[in-house]
Amino acid sequence: MAGLYIHIPFCASRCIYCGFYSTTRHSMRRKYIETLCREIAMRHDYLHEPIHTIYIGGGTPSLLDEEQLTLLFTNIDYTAATEITIECNPDDITPQYASMINRLPINRVSMGAQTFNDSRLRFIRRRHSSNDIELAVKLLRDAGTANISIDLMYSFPGETMDEWQNDIDHALALGVEHLSAYSLMFEENTPLHLMLTEGRIKETEEELSAAMYYALIDRLTSAGYEHYEISNFALSGYRSQHNSSYWNATPYMGIGAAAHSFDITSRQWNVPDIDSYMAAVSRGELPMEHEELDMDTRYNDTVMLRLRTCEGINLNALADDFGNKYRNACLNSARRYIDDGMLKHTDDGRLRLTRRGLFVSDMIMSDMMMV
Ligand code: SF4
Repeated sequence: MAGLYIHIPFCASRCIYCGFYSTTRHSMRRKYIETLCREIAMRHDYLHEPIHTIYIGGGTPSLLDEEQLTLLFTNIDYTAATEITIECNPDDITPQYASMINRLPINRVSMGAQTFNDSRLRFIRRRHSSNDIELAVKLLRDAGTANISIDLMYSFPGETMDEWQNDIDHALALGVEHLSAYSLMFEENTPLHLMLTEGRIKETEEELSAAMYYALIDRLTSAGYEHYEISNFALSGYRSQHNSSYWNATPYMGIGAAAHSFDITSRQWNVPDIDSYMAAVSRGELPMEHEELDMDTRYNDTVMLRLRTCEGINLNALADDFGNKYRNACLNSARRYIDDGMLKHTDDGRLRLTRRGLFVSDMIMSDMMMV
């Protein structure tokens, strides 16, 4: 099994917190899609297994029209794919767009809702309103989309617990199959980060941020969602197959400017610039950097990715893949967190984050890395 990620680096406008690579120049969209098709052809032998999941992410893939998306699918062998996701902005979903999605091979929509608080949506420069989110879900449902995910954010400057609970209420009322929720990050070189460094906004106190995270877990699990990864929740049978394959170290090929690829023993990343990307591919070159992964790096990736999941690290599988030296190192570095109640060493030979460990997972993972 393998995954295909397709990066669409166009946005109608830039949100103030976003550190992803994207551009608001749209005139080159058609040419960019043609370049993606060419890259797919050039790399047809990168994956040695059938494509099991496809994720069209961005940027804002819902800026693409039917002709552009059809051209893309014409150049992909998706016959073995069981999950094909497109990221959409709620305000792009019209009745026509929702029907178009269901005419294409797409069977999952992931929407960046972020919050249902309209003044906060304006503050972070999202283009949609709370009503747009509700309408988009309804339109998608009416058109036949049976698998919808939304992204939420919390720990906005000045956000109260009541406001966050209100966002959770709204999210639950939508009845979507999948939810991802992230604490607001202050990425360098973003307008939001500048506001922070200039003292115009303040970060949420860690105690409140932790309380918001645990409220999210409690509310969503009570409502029947499985908390299957640090930031991800799904109704039964609706885990994200594509993202799960990242956490399970399944090979994937990333197409497009700034896209990353992984084939177990190495990773590659395309140049994060549309012009350089398109110029190189048109010359028949792959504009990518390449890194062979040594044993320590592969071990570190495995620990970091597996610990994010509710299954945790399977110590026997770790010994099979890396040898007993790595298994023992893993257990030794975990010991103090097991003693502190932040990790659990289970009877079936796994290491899992406990409820207490979930909020400080970054610190635990970084302490468990081989340096
Ligand atoms: S958050 Fe999404 S829509 Fe906003 S700038 Fe980033 S990629 Fe574009």
